[in-house]
Amino acid sequence: MIFKTLGVVGAGTMGNGIAQVAAVAGLNVVMIDVNEAALSKGLATLTANLCRLVDREKLDTTSRDRALARLDISTDYQRVSTADIIIEAATENVELKARILKQIESVARADAIIASNTSSISITALGAVLSDPTRFIGMHFFNPVPIMSLVEVIRGLQTNDTTVSAVRELTERLGKSPIGVTNSPGFVVNRILVPMINEAFFVLAEGIATAEEIDAGMKLGANHPIGPLALADLVGLDVCLSVMDVYLKDFGDSKYRPCPLLRELVSAGRLGRKTGWGVYRY
Ligand code: NAD
Repeated sequence: MIFKTLGVVGAGTMGNGIAQVAAVAGLNVVMIDVNEAALSKGLATLTANLCRLVDREKLDTTSRDRALARLDISTDYQRVSTADIIIEAATENVELKARILKQIESVARADAIIASNTSSISITALGAVLSDPTRFIGMHFFNPVPIMSLVEVIRGLQTNDTTVSAVRELTERLGKSPIGVTNSPGFVVNRILVPMINEAFFVLAEGIATAEEIDAGMKLGANHPIGPLALADLVGLDVCLSVMDVYLKDFGDSKYRPCPLLRELVSAGRLGRKTGWGVYRY
């Protein structure tokens, strides 16, 4: 499949990042959001990121200007009707995503691929809202999109082989590395990462080491760029807790039980960097 035009629905953190890498890779991009304010904010972030790349001599001005010229923004879904692929990157809410996906399908070409960047919702379940789920797939980019190399390419139960191989090819064209994943809660990376963070809270709660020592241990001993407790503060303790709750419910396996200390900190409103205090004070 030759990809010429990519639609992205949602101009937030992930959507404008996806739009940026696609425009730089030479695709025509249509970025959709609910109102002009969200679109302007997304476009301003994208433009500032491209200018920063020019300042750092990672992109020349001609390439920046060409990328910006390939970008179209709109609140009208009809504008994605010519796209070869449309990636949904809107707010993480299952009812909202179901509604958006149906809206995309109603305007998209019959052979267009529809993807979702969801971090936690089942790709099989989202695909089931479409009349043709064979061309629906998960494309899980990581934040910040222009910097992080990985894309988890998630196959739902009904996704067909042509869609999987086309999306892997597109991922590489965007300068990213795909890994193939079968739909399952947390996919691959978060399934491993979040239980590791949860285990760090158990180690802390049991008094085995201080927070600083646990983080230093994983940085110096496992070569992680950031310790698991500092990472929890960055991600948000509430997000880590809700992910563990989902694993516990969906897998029905007690190995995913959230650490009581994690739950206690969340109850106290210590959610991490965003509240100025989580494991550490900011
Ligand atoms: P965000 O809040 O920054 O952006 C979401 C955007 O969606 C907003 O601009 C909002 O106006 C828009 N939106 C809401 N309803 C819409 C509609 N009906 N039509 C069009 N646009 C609509 O969120 P985000 O962090 O960019 O996350 C987007 C998706 O990416 C979520 O599914 C999230 O789980 C996933 N994700 C996020 C991260 C991350 O670290 N932020 C990483 C990987 C995946």
